[in-house]
Amino acid sequence: MTTPDREVLVVGAGPAGCWAARRLAEKGRDVALADENPGPRRSVVCTGIIGSEAFGALPLPESAVTDVVRRAWFYSPSGTAVRHEPSRPLARVVDRTRFDAALAGGAREAGAELLRSHAARSVRREKGRVVVGFRTPDGEREIGARVLVVATGHQRWLHEDTRLGVPGYYVHGVHADLPFGSLDGAELYFGNRVAPGFFAWAVPFGNGLARLGVLAPQGSRRLFRRFVAGEPIRSRLAPEARTEAFVRRRLHSRGIVQGPVSPSYADRVLAVGEAAGQVKTTTAGGIYYGMLGAGIAADVLDHALATGRLDARSLAGYEEAWKARLGPEIDLGLRLQRAVRGLDDRQIDRVFESLQSGMGAVVRRVVHFDWQRSAVRVLLGGVLASVVS
Ligand SMILES: Cc1cc2nc3c(=O)[nH]c(=O)nc-3n(C[C@H](O)[C@H](O)[C@H](O)COP(=O)(O)OP(=O)(O)OC[C@H]3O[C@@H](n4cnc5c(N)ncnc54)[C@H](O)[C@@H]3O)c2cc1C
Repeated sequence: MTTPDREVLVVGAGPAGCWAARRLAEKGRDVALADENPGPRRSVVCTGIIGSEAFGALPLPESAVTDVVRRAWFYSPSGTAVRHEPSRPLARVVDRTRFDAALAGGAREAGAELLRSHAARSVRREKGRVVVGFRTPDGEREIGARVLVVATGHQRWLHEDTRLGVPGYYVHGVHADLPFGSLDGAELYFGNRVAPGFFAWAVPFGNGLARLGVLAPQGSRRLFRRFVAGEPIRSRLAPEARTEAFVRRRLHSRGIVQGPVSPSYADRVLAVGEAAGQVKTTTAGGIYYGMLGAGIAADVLDHALATGRLDARSLAGYEEAWKARLGPEIDLGLRLQRAVRGLDDRQIDRVFESLQSGMGAVVRRVVHFDWQRSAVRVLLGGVLASVVS
């Protein structure tokens, strides 16, 4: 089956793809937004925490919010707690199924055509166009477009065919929604027994549920089972949730891209969102950064379509622009990851001790949910340097 070419074909209806499709459609472009799922994904492996800033900066669907995070508790390996409570709520927690569905609806209302059950499996370039081969319930289908936006998240079916770079490094995330006693904000747990080099968390999810998770370079499923079987988590789980079988049935995991994917542009192609590595490297949060990257991509593509200059060299400004906005944050987060990787639990405890002292006040003054460069600099320069010296 052949159909007339579109101006823009976006593959992947996650937050980044939906936002790119919506912005381009709002600019009057002819856009198709294709996703392999028959409808909004039922179980998205994502805790769904989005900083308050994003809700002011972008038209995010309030209807998907399940809870508000007003404070965060950070726990050291030996149990020392440090509280962070800014004057305004830190973040909101969203139900990703409802969130993604609303964003896809926004793209459609702006004029993009939403193509469900379209799994992109190949890409080829022809003169003046790019052609994507899809698997659909009705068989194979090809769709041509003047430009392609790859918004496939951590999946990389299209990166090689399009000559995009490939992600170099992933951290592994696992989470489960479990019936839980009350939570006074988000709780984050540090230490080599819990999550070497990263952290574990418990976040209120509404309706008596908590969203529990672990980030780690490897072994995160095993670490997660240990996290929920130990204190202070186990005794707050509802009794029926205290068995391994119960937890295993609700467990979801996947890799999260860490670090920029370069190049994130090629002839007639841009990558956005996690597919481009637009993910915070301190917390592995990718929703807001991915949508910011997608907004930049939409501006660059709109201009490129107007001028007809769609070759890789002409699109290179996209990578410069998104890296100018997000790159320093991503790079410093990676430096922090490398610095904490070798710390033993005693050293992590000492980091907490300094955060309880005057150094904590300095960090709290500069820390921001989405923009953490200043706080990371203080951590790297002052706190960690004193701990490892
Ligand atoms: C355990 C865990 C917890 C997390 N918690 C948070 C959090 O609290 N806050 C936060 O901001 N981020 C969090 N993240 C990261 C966040 O989920 C992602 O970075 C974010 O979803 C990326 O958005 P995206 O639009 O780039 O990709 P995705 O949301 O992954 O969307 C990609 C879409 O592309 C579709 N797709 C993929 N390949 C194809 C193909 N070949 N053909 C057609 N369709 C395709 C998929 O079906 C999907 O709909 C978490 C991740 C994990 C693993």
